[in-house]
Amino acid sequence: MSHNILILKGDGIGPEVVDVAVAILQHMGLDLNFSEAKAGYACFQEVGDPIPQTTIDAARAADATIFGAVTTPPDIPNYRSAVVTLRRELDLYANLRPVHSLGLTGGHYREGLDFYVVRENTEGLYIGQEEDFGDYAVAKRLITKKGSERIVRYAYELARHTGKRKVTVVHKANILRLTDGLFRRTALAVAKEYDEQYGIEVQELLVDTMAMRLIKDPQNFEVIVTTNLFGDILSDEAAELVGGLGVAASGNIGEHGAIFEPVHGSAPDIAGKGVANPFATLLATVMMLQHIGENAAAQRLQSAVAATIRQGVLTPDLGGTANTARVKEQIISNL
Ligand code: ATP
Repeated sequence: MSHNILILKGDGIGPEVVDVAVAILQHMGLDLNFSEAKAGYACFQEVGDPIPQTTIDAARAADATIFGAVTTPPDIPNYRSAVVTLRRELDLYANLRPVHSLGLTGGHYREGLDFYVVRENTEGLYIGQEEDFGDYAVAKRLITKKGSERIVRYAYELARHTGKRKVTVVHKANILRLTDGLFRRTALAVAKEYDEQYGIEVQELLVDTMAMRLIKDPQNFEVIVTTNLFGDILSDEAAELVGGLGVAASGNIGEHGAIFEPVHGSAPDIAGKGVANPFATLLATVMMLQHIGENAAAQRLQSAVAATIRQGVLTPDLGGTANTARVKEQIISNL
């Protein structure tokens, strides 16, 4: 079956890393139709909008989108973030971050990890409802039954499809009794269903305990599901365990679209120098292939990326001497 893939290259190193992903997908000979649309600061300078309606419509129509990175300029009033706008417009409620050890060394790297962090992407403290009262300010935190149910169900479906046997529900319901109380109750009702039907176990952890356990015994986790801010923090903490920003990929997924991107930004300091690290974008591409059901291709690409890392063909940010073109060549030869 043919799949329509939208390419949003963005700014800075975005085009350099996305071009590698597209070249590799083309090399793999999959039945994919690529189209391209504009987003980001260069797009804003060209057409006066960082995320034109035509781009939003194209992302909605595509089976999946690969997104590079965009530069957010300071001091432009009412400037809309391309990714945040796409998340909202397409209701991409699930933010998925795989945490897989791929053979890097040094830093906080831990071998043998293979789990997912699933973060609710539309609610919590990120609804933009803050009020300034002079000497104090207040932020509202929205948790809904519908939002909690669909993110926890997403986590369980992910567990079911990836052969995981345990889902860890993370909250702070002992303090945030009403908001996280609702998240917890809703999560445990979904958990009961999946325990009865599929024997998938639930584990509950307070967010502070979770933060400790990620360092202490990260190998004991399979799928972690939590609310927006907790997920934001825990997913970056988890990324550090498998190599950090240079290999961190994420998916923003909903009923009306799915966008896969590297977690890093547009790195304007190295743009155009040919040394951008494409690994995070390639791992986002692996996620994209899994999303459209090309599981064998996803596995093949992930293995080629892991082999390249183990062979030490790394860009300077990962401690190597290879440039972007060299990494691409090695991945192709490992496919
Ligand atoms: P933005 O302003 O778009 O968020 P940024 O580059 O300031 O982008 P980060 O993505 O956090 O933000 O990157 C910080 C630094 O890390 C970059 O300036 C760059 O030196 C390095 N870096 C990030 N991504 C990559 C990459 N893919 N390859 C090589 N270096 C990178």
